[in-house]
Amino acid sequence: MSLTPEECRIAITSRREYYEAELETKGRWVNGCRHHDGKTHKCHDSPAIRVAGGSRKKNSPIPVHRIAFILKYGFIPNKWYVRRTCENRYCTNPNHLQLSMASSIMTIG
Ligand SMILES: [Zn+2]
Repeated sequence: MSLTPEECRIAITSRREYYEAELETKGRWVNGCRHHDGKTHKCHDSPAIRVAGGSRKKNSPIPVHRIAFILKYGFIPNKWYVRRTCENRYCTNPNHLQLSMASSIMTIG
């Protein structure tokens, strides 16, 4: 059971400094991408950080690009996912992230 988008938003924005530091210390800049060197969780094809939150104290691995998106834009709307325009699955550069649905792409910022 993963966190709902709202639980995710609250968990991450309430510990903003912690997640910003995680992305900063484990990130290195390569050709415009911020390449994240953290652990890749088996549920995702990209690195993830465990985020604790929600009423049952669920602790879910959230892919780092989703965390980076929330830190920059505040939240991810329900049912949307975050697409990397650079197609680098390790990238957390907010400028390379945009919201996406299956059939449409919405540019942010
Ligand atoms: Zn990138």
